[in-house]
Amino acid sequence: FLPHLVASMEEVEETYIMVKPDGVQRGLVGEIISRFEKKGFLLKGLKLFQCPKDLAEEHYKDLKGKSFFPKLIDYITSGPVVCMAWEGVGVVASARKLIGATNPLQAEPGTIRGDLAVQTGRNVVHGSDSPDNGKREIDLWFKEGEVVQWTQAQAPWLRE
Ligand code: UDP
Ligand code: MG
Repeated sequence: FLPHLVASMEEVEETYIMVKPDGVQRGLVGEIISRFEKKGFLLKGLKLFQCPKDLAEEHYKDLKGKSFFPKLIDYITSGPVVCMAWEGVGVVASARKLIGATNPLQAEPGTIRGDLAVQTGRNVVHGSDSPDNGKREIDLWFKEGEVVQWTQAQAPWLRE
């Protein structure tokens, strides 16, 4: 047991990050993964996946009543997505900051949406909005065995 490598269990969170079909089609997968990799979070799950309609509806179930819901489901199922599970201290809120505002025109420069997108309906990336939803979404998108527990060699260079 190396205490300096392990943050206290309460602090460690997981978040579900997804490159949406526009991000995949536009060749932004590497760029988007890099933002989280360079920040220092731990990648625990990664796959290219064609999302079926029922999964898209379950993922976005809280938005079911919204006028844009049918278009959102068409968008998310319109081509492959890249599904990712990331772990780290404060990763949920930090990933949301790295992603930027839902409307890319309001997203700050330096954020993924601020740098790489122009429209809410084509905002290239998803990130969970709470630790509970992070867990829920990782369970929803990944099967048993697809999420890997491992320790980064760089861990002592990220946390004192
Ligand atoms: N969305 C949309 N029109 C809207 C609001 C949201 O098309 O007026 C889409 C957009 O792709 C957004 C997703 O629905 O990313 C989920 O909406 P949410 O409010 O959860 O935004 P997010 O958490 O992705 O920033
Ligand atoms: Mg959301």
